Amino acid sequence: MNDIPSNDQIQTALDNAYAYAKTVQGGKNASYIPALAQVPSDLLAIAVVTVNGDLLTAGSADTPFAIESISKAFNLAYVMDLIGMKQLRTKIGADPTGEPFNSVMAIELHGGKPLNPLVNAGAMATVSLVNGSDSDEIWANMIHNFNNFANTALTVNQEIYKSESATNQHNRGIAWLLDSYGYFYNTPPMIVDLYTRMCSLNITTSQLALMGACYANGGVNPVSKKRVVKDENVPPILAELCMSGLYNSTGDWMYKAGLPAKSGVGGGLVAVAPGKLAMAAYSPPLDPAGNTVKGQAALQSIIKELNLNLFRS
Ligand code: GLU
Repeated sequence: MNDIPSNDQIQTALDNAYAYAKTVQGGKNASYIPALAQVPSDLLAIAVVTVNGDLLTAGSADTPFAIESISKAFNLAYVMDLIGMKQLRTKIGADPTGEPFNSVMAIELHGGKPLNPLVNAGAMATVSLVNGSDSDEIWANMIHNFNNFANTALTVNQEIYKSESATNQHNRGIAWLLDSYGYFYNTPPMIVDLYTRMCSLNITTSQLALMGACYANGGVNPVSKKRVVKDENVPPILAELCMSGLYNSTGDWMYKAGLPAKSGVGGGLVAVAPGKLAMAAYSPPLDPAGNTVKGQAALQSIIKELNLNLFRS
């Protein structure tokens, strides 16, 4: 393994990636959540946080956006710490579905068990495992975990939350379906609401890079120095990101990038270079699988320039 790149090298790579990603065309804002279609499509930001806690950015890295599916990768940490990986695996699988993130067929084909924690079914089942006696208590546990990763008090984007709550019938259907098979561990309507709230959290590109850097740093937040996830749970979570982090085009991403990553339909993307740094990008237009087009281009450019592909010796 080579060393952690210097901050000068990182800043140069960020500036190059930003200039390159600006020229990359294509993609469309998500529109199945109406409020996401209204976000300006030309926003672009990139950020890196190293395991030393240094932050480097290019573009509008302080602009908040909806975290969406990226939240799944961090709520997973809380639940894995809570019940342990072994127990979690009896309730939620680890393998890619080969289907879109909200597929019902993937559930039906596998005896009602959610195939992995990064698709909607598995992510909602994960939320259903969070401890707490009512919705407020469960949310308090969830948001405390997110705040520990981001080292700040995150807030819900109310416009996205309302828009998504009014249009999430499909997710409600998935939750009831899992419940009918015995793979849901709390009341479906309450859990879908908490899941929707979690997806509507506002995050900035800088904050997202810090969240990823907790994974790069073996589960310790490199700025607050607090442990946010057990050391033993970092490898399985990153393995999961390698398999299903970019929906059903994760294989394409892994061929090109070679780093665990997670995207969301809000246009965010975070990638983790273990032991070194994490990087995040934000740009709303998505490819057909649901991944930010410019964000992927930007992070692939940084990975190449800094030689961060995990599979290179
Ligand atoms: N809240 C979104 C949904 O459930 C998340 C989708 C995503 O980012 O993949 O549809």
